[in-house]
Amino acid sequence: MVLAGPTAVGKGTVAAYVREHYPQVWLSVSATTRRPRPGEVEGRHYHFVDDAEFDRLERDGQLLEWAVVHGRARYGTPREPVEEALAHCRPALLEIDLQGARQVRRAMPEALFVFLAPPSWEELVSRLVGRGTESEEERDVRLRTARTELAAAEEFDVTIINDDVARAAEHLVSLMVDPTPAKEP
Ligand code: 5GP
Repeated sequence: MVLAGPTAVGKGTVAAYVREHYPQVWLSVSATTRRPRPGEVEGRHYHFVDDAEFDRLERDGQLLEWAVVHGRARYGTPREPVEEALAHCRPALLEIDLQGARQVRRAMPEALFVFLAPPSWEELVSRLVGRGTESEEERDVRLRTARTELAAAEEFDVTIINDDVARAAEHLVSLMVDPTPAKEP
């Protein structure tokens, strides 16, 4: 399953809820060239790599998808762990951006694509300002990206509105157990 959605919509929080309450769900750990934020743990939140290492991963075909996100850092999904999880029939969740989701759609069209949407634009802006992890300049870049990303919801199989983290996460997990209704034409 691929979970995408605009910046600050709460994808990370929903994924964290799934990690805590549904240990049977395997969560992909992305590689990124961005620096760790306080509290982020190597190998748990991300694999923090430098540019040379990211280049190597990409060149060696070790990334299922990758993208430059918000015009700054590169982020990518290591291919092998995904294939291993699927080989063991574990439900697998990728929390990635829209560009990445489109690449996975081409590589693995059988995946279920879920779009996490904010209750409103105003709510999205206030979440981004509230979390205070970006500079004003970074925030503007992210909001510009978010505007285009919101319009992409229609490309997805399912849209879940993140008005409540637990409810959104439970909905997400229920689709992993029985994705059939969402995939019907
Ligand atoms: P942050 O820097 O706030 O952790 O994440 C920034 C954005 O990068 C989020 O929208 C997140 O979904 C996206 N992202 C995280 N990992 C990946 C990945 O492996 N591939 C892609 N394409 N985007 C990712």
